[in-house]
Amino acid sequence: MTECPVCGADIEKASDTVLGELLECSDCGTELEVTNLNPFNVEEAPGFLDDVNNQIPL
Ligand SMILES: [Zn+2]
Repeated sequence: MTECPVCGADIEKASDTVLGELLECSDCGTELEVTNLNPFNVEEAPGFLDDVNNQIPL
């Protein structure tokens, strides 16, 4: 278990969590990227992923 870097809420690692996985903080809704598994650590994910759905198909 680690803490949300934004609000400090507890973030639990699921049994199938993988490195680089994106999680959502259940408290503040921030997208968090798993940056380490042992020890478990997350960082605030870059926001560009939200733009994927807005891209114009080539
Ligand atoms: Zn949070």
